[in-house]
Amino acid sequence: MSKATHGSCLCGSTAYEVSGNLRPVCVCHCTQCRKSSGHYVAATQCMMTDLKIHGESLIWFKSSDIAERGFCGTCGSNLFWRRAGADHMSIFSGTIDGETGLSIASQLNVESKGDYYTLPDVPVISQDMLVPI
Ligand SMILES: [Zn+2]
Ligand SMILES: [Zn+2]
Repeated sequence: MSKATHGSCLCGSTAYEVSGNLRPVCVCHCTQCRKSSGHYVAATQCMMTDLKIHGESLIWFKSSDIAERGFCGTCGSNLFWRRAGADHMSIFSGTIDGETGLSIASQLNVESKGDYYTLPDVPVISQDMLVPI
């Protein structure tokens, strides 16, 4: 049994708790992640059934035909990404409180990276190679 992971948005009005395992972090350089985060996204993932979300400020934005992004309607922090119908939730790693015990293990969509940074030194994978949890 792993210890619970806690996280929140910047203003604290949306908080969450994960009771199960977290996947190693994957970086996504796609245009949607870059626009919504202001840089690239570094996300871990948990089983939906292990996640409890607290607070009233979370808003879901349908960012594509297949996915939604969860952000705080008060402070604007990006917290979650979920694929329609999926049994797991992506959690943006910077919203986790304290030490995560995680590290960046892979990256996606490098063809749309920004020209102002270099890629992390981790394997490039495709979406279908990303194994949940
Ligand atoms: Zn907030
Ligand atoms: Zn992305």
